[in-house]
Amino acid sequence: MSPSKTPENAPEHCPGTESEEAGKASACDGCPNQQACATAPKGPDPDIPIINERMGTVKHKILVLSGKGGVGKSSFTTQLSWALSHDEDTQVGVMDIDICGPSVPKMFGLEGEQIHSSNSGWSPVYVTDNLGVMSIGFILQDADDAIIWRGPKKNGLIKQFLKDVDWGDLDYLVVDTPPGTSDEHLSIVQYLKEAKVSGAIVITTPQEVALQDVRKEIDFCRKVKIPILGVVENMAGFVCPSCKGESVIFPPTTGGAKKMCEDTNTRFLGSIPLDPRIAKSCDQGLPFMDEYPDSPATKAYQDIIAKIHDLLP
Ligand code: SF4
Repeated sequence: MSPSKTPENAPEHCPGTESEEAGKASACDGCPNQQACATAPKGPDPDIPIINERMGTVKHKILVLSGKGGVGKSSFTTQLSWALSHDEDTQVGVMDIDICGPSVPKMFGLEGEQIHSSNSGWSPVYVTDNLGVMSIGFILQDADDAIIWRGPKKNGLIKQFLKDVDWGDLDYLVVDTPPGTSDEHLSIVQYLKEAKVSGAIVITTPQEVALQDVRKEIDFCRKVKIPILGVVENMAGFVCPSCKGESVIFPPTTGGAKKMCEDTNTRFLGSIPLDPRIAKSCDQGLPFMDEYPDSPATKAYQDIIAKIHDLLP
């Protein structure tokens, strides 16, 4: 369902899916959603206040979004979180609700970890004293489980996840969301939006096919009034680990993310070149920037993260 409470495929006079008339009004005759609307509970979602309360102890909530999968969203999420947690007085949480491919546990070296629960909810798994992680990956028995699930079951799991994790006081919660702008993705972002998201970071690669989806993501954020902190262009060139020379892999035929940001009046946070050692560090669950401080990709990450830090001190 669209976050506007009027699905895109609804007829012109749709009374709204939360209306008492939903599924029963004359406008609903012939609407493909009629059965679902007639039987769905009416009124605002009772879980939203519970999610809001959970999120009330978090100072900055950052959504990491991408139009497409495979653009480096989760690796950005992990590098940002490692970097924010460098200050040991800063409490950082990472919430991975990318049900399509929860890769965050691996990137923090937490594969095989189990969730522990107490009276106050599910406890995050801690990488360091001030960096906690919660991932859908911790509760999927098998990495392939999610693929066969249908929308409502995925949404139910994600909602439970948002309600039940006991973060305690956090300075930053970095949320890795599923890629795309599917209905399921939109409703997840809607749950979080109610909890007053500080801002979204949109990850893309330079080529036009990726940028097209990013424009949709930017439109969506504006429609639901989620502030956009900015756009990060990933895989912008390739750094040879030996000679440090850079070459282009995805040609920015339409000017890349920078031009797209100018066109859409969105902040451009910077470009990160692809360094094959990023994937290696992620596979090993190690912080790339600490492992390879001399890489041009490290410098790019640091510049971008400094801007984010300035925007959300
Ligand atoms: S069934 Fe009625 S309320 Fe539901 S989407 Fe269609 S028109 Fe809107």
